[in-house]
Amino acid sequence: ARNTDGGGIAVIGLGRFGCHLASSLTQLGHEVLAIDRNGERVQRWSPYLDRVVQADATEEGALRQLGVTDFPRVVVAIGASVEASVLTVLALAELGVPQIWARATSDKHAKILGSVGAQHVIFPEAETGERVAHLIVSKMLDFIEFGDDFAIAKVRVPDALVGRPLRELAPADRYGVMVVGAKLPGERFRYADPGTVLAPGSVLIVEGSIAQVQRFAELS
Ligand code: ATP
Ligand code: ATP
Repeated sequence: ARNTDGGGIAVIGLGRFGCHLASSLTQLGHEVLAIDRNGERVQRWSPYLDRVVQADATEEGALRQLGVTDFPRVVVAIGASVEASVLTVLALAELGVPQIWARATSDKHAKILGSVGAQHVIFPEAETGERVAHLIVSKMLDFIEFGDDFAIAKVRVPDALVGRPLRELAPADRYGVMVVGAKLPGERFRYADPGTVLAPGSVLIVEGSIAQVQRFAELS
């Protein structure tokens, strides 16, 4: 099934990041146009993606010819070459692409991308490095931070929360975290409600400040 709401997505640059992005978008059912200037990369990814074409994305004319203007969303996944990524974003902005996502490798790179027309700037290496650091030093099983010190984490259930309904245990009052989901052993994740009774070995999804979710994970 093709997911056509919002139109297709063009991905420029099929390095390690771009190829994973393009294949995930394809798996999610979106039409993907992938562009790389390297012929070997193009050949390598052709069997796995709908449309893979070789072009230098810094050239506005080449992008226009490929029909990039038909794509409401374009992701510039070029990383190492700041010049190529900036010139590509500029070309896309000149072509009037409404939503430009671009990958930055430094703060200055991010500033330039924003000033030439990227609406969304992503830092895959910085974000993954930071996230993995939290996972290594804490007991959290997974973790996502939303800025403003708000986070959601996957954690093992602390003994203190086993056996009685959450309503009685009031984790929001005792630990400051909200339990939003629970997965009992052998079952799937479900929303947690005041009547949920947790079994030993359950896994929870909790939200709160970073310090709160980390402290809560340490209880397990
Ligand atoms: P990754 O970490 O994702 O592997 P990288 O930083 O190691 O990326 P980059 O130099 O950013 O490598 O290149 C990513 C991809 O972008 C490469 O496949 C490269 O051929 C492609 N690319 C670089 N410049 C352009 C350009 N001007 N037009 C099209 N594709 C380009
Ligand atoms: P990234 O995408 O994170 O920038 P990369 O793929 O571009 O990484 P790598 O070749 O993986 O670059 O190198 C990452 C870092 O690991 C470099 O700083 C490099 O000096 C260091 N490094 C590589 N090999 C070794 C080694 N044998 N011992 C110690 N450090 C190493």
